[in-house]
Amino acid sequence: MTPEVDRPEAASSGSTPAASRTPATPAVPAVDAPPETQDLAWRHRHLLDVDDLTRGELETVMGTADAMREVLARPIAKVPALRGTNVTILFYEASTRTRVSFEAAAKNLSCDVTNIAAASSSVSKGESLVDTVRTVEALGAHMLVMRHNVSGAPYLASEVFGGAVLNGGDGWHAHPSQALLDLFTLRSRLPGRSLEGRKIVILGDALHSRVARSNIWTLTAMGADLWICGPSTLLRGFEGWAARGAAGRRFTVTSDVDAAMRDADVVMALRIQKERMAGGLLPSLREYAARYGLTKERLRLAKPDCIVMHPGPMNEGVEIAADVAVDPRSVITAQVTNGVAVRMALLYLLAGARRAGGNA
Ligand code: ASP
Ligand code: ASP
Repeated sequence: MTPEVDRPEAASSGSTPAASRTPATPAVPAVDAPPETQDLAWRHRHLLDVDDLTRGELETVMGTADAMREVLARPIAKVPALRGTNVTILFYEASTRTRVSFEAAAKNLSCDVTNIAAASSSVSKGESLVDTVRTVEALGAHMLVMRHNVSGAPYLASEVFGGAVLNGGDGWHAHPSQALLDLFTLRSRLPGRSLEGRKIVILGDALHSRVARSNIWTLTAMGADLWICGPSTLLRGFEGWAARGAAGRRFTVTSDVDAAMRDADVVMALRIQKERMAGGLLPSLREYAARYGLTKERLRLAKPDCIVMHPGPMNEGVEIAADVAVDPRSVITAQVTNGVAVRMALLYLLAGARRAGGNA
């Protein structure tokens, strides 16, 4: 019979090798135990972006998320690993899936969770971010998951918060947990769990997309042949980035959708971010859909088993056709499910680094 919760003492007292739990992947930690009992290859106290994660660290997140997925497959998907850890979720922007996913992840690790919707807190009375973060810490938070419409806000929070800060999306800048769940999803779908040399197309509104910016780092770090495609007005800055920062990384920027789609292994459609769109960037949504929308017809240019992704929420009929979203090649629902496992892995690793005094 599966115990309701696993006893951390039992899991951590011996030197039970992680492999005994998940024989296929020796690097997987035994996540029933608290992280300080593990020899984790992880040094970061905060997760603000993915640009400074090495390939080895990305593998550590993936291996830990494998272990978390195994926890999620149990009849009672809960371990006591982070019992006593207070997680505050502070979101200054509307979100359903990221917030709920972080909350589920924290609860599955037995954390205590406090949710603060910024609009209903003193934040809307003008309290500064720094004051809010200090208050949250004084109220006992150990970890702060934060979303903010201003790029860089989580960096500021990390300077004043004594615990760990996880960036749940900041402005146009970064959405690290999304990029990591995308990587996890791809790795579980691609043959040999390898992205090396795979042609991956990010299609759409890259300009306003923190998802695109974070995915550029992780996917190229794993050896993918990355293409960013969209109308030139929504690619501003990316060509310069590709030219400047592409040392050893494969990264192409184009407005030629046929060239991008040809023989693609993966295509990730991005939401047209109407709320961020300044005048003149797009003639009309209808024209965008006709020229860049991910349709069955466009998908024919890609490899027959091309994987279809979207970070959500989708504008069906604009950046992605409704029949493509539910096509057997679509992994959009798996992305959402995997988000919980990946966020559990992130909370677990950061909690370990926090207790070990990590400072990166
Ligand atoms: N942009 C939102 C998020 O990442 C999407 C949603 O609200 O579902 O959470
Ligand atoms: N949910 C993602 C984000 O928060 C993508 C989107 O909103 O389009 O950035």
